[in-house]
Amino acid sequence: MHERIYLSPPHMSGNEMKYIQEAFDSNWIAPLGTNVDKFEEEICAYVGMDHGLALSSGTAGIHLALKYFDVGPGDYVFCSDLTFAGSCNPILYQYANPVFIDSEPETWNMSPIALEKAFEWAKKENKMPKAVIIVDLYGQSADYDSLLPICEHYGVPVIEDAAEALGASYKGKKCGSFGHIGIFSFNGNKIITTSGGGMIVSNDEEAIKKMRFWATQSKEVSRHYEHKEVGYNYRMSNICAGIGRGQLEALDTFIQCRKNINELYRESLSDLALSFMPVKNNGSPNYWLSVVKFTSNAILTPDDIIVPLEEENIESRPVWKPMHLQPLYKKYSFFSHGESISELLFHTGICLPSGSAMTTEEIQTVVKVIKRIFYGT
Ligand SMILES: *Cc1c(COP(=O)(O)O)cnc(C)c1O
Repeated sequence: MHERIYLSPPHMSGNEMKYIQEAFDSNWIAPLGTNVDKFEEEICAYVGMDHGLALSSGTAGIHLALKYFDVGPGDYVFCSDLTFAGSCNPILYQYANPVFIDSEPETWNMSPIALEKAFEWAKKENKMPKAVIIVDLYGQSADYDSLLPICEHYGVPVIEDAAEALGASYKGKKCGSFGHIGIFSFNGNKIITTSGGGMIVSNDEEAIKKMRFWATQSKEVSRHYEHKEVGYNYRMSNICAGIGRGQLEALDTFIQCRKNINELYRESLSDLALSFMPVKNNGSPNYWLSVVKFTSNAILTPDDIIVPLEEENIESRPVWKPMHLQPLYKKYSFFSHGESISELLFHTGICLPSGSAMTTEEIQTVVKVIKRIFYGT
């Protein structure tokens, strides 16, 4: 049997060791160091933001952003419903209440219709959120021209969870730059990885300064370790940042690889009752994952594809299980687009292997299994 085909495994560019070696040569393994400073600068330059803060994870970034917007016990935070739990777990860290917002069919991202409904409810019930977390799903930008004016109208700041969308853009502007604060993840499965890590970006220098302070245990300026506020150990190591610098140099190549994979899947699966995550023409995704869903007349379930792929040593996954269906989150409010789009996508969607190092042969292996299922041969 062929080697396992993973959903989105790490893909080293070859430049990572150079930066790690530099850290070793100067014995600057930790704390922080040149690679961290440079990685922050390089990500900012790439995304077009003024300030960056390298962290131990993307989740840590969302936590600090919520704290910056003073989210505390009993507060409300709106969040995309169709996402990974890392987007909303920090809301619970702050003992606040998440309110989940459904997807729209056009981008699978946050629905402006559901968002407006949620704001009208919040206004009536006196439950205005302290922040709105908008996710750029599977590497595609949310529709910010529709979403941002609604948030502005109600005067609520936006945290852009671009964990999956580094390198994607919307009307020529890079993802991560649409909210007051943007967040990236460099977890092992993301388009670039530092083995584990994250970054906050913002044009608000004071905000970054404050979050940097909290991320380093809130140490006051003093020799004797003075503390007035609670802090966190959330910074990135100089070794991890070295991996990140090497990865960032290859990001545009990785995006091209994933785009090619997406195109090959589209061509090869075009005659089946499957449709791909729609790409809105004013956006340019990073194609992190190629995701398909059954067209409405199909009678299969995601497991009908996922299980046979697994039998061939191929990893695929259902679309994220919507947060409002999770045991942990089902007691919180949810606002739907009409019929719930996130639920529909969960029941009909499959994430296909999309790693940037995937070979044409591996793609054809995946395609062959899927075709066999549809044709029943
Ligand atoms: C991966 C991911 C996160 C969490 O990032 P970590 O670095 O794993 O903490 C948050 N939100 C989304 C949408 C993600 O995909």
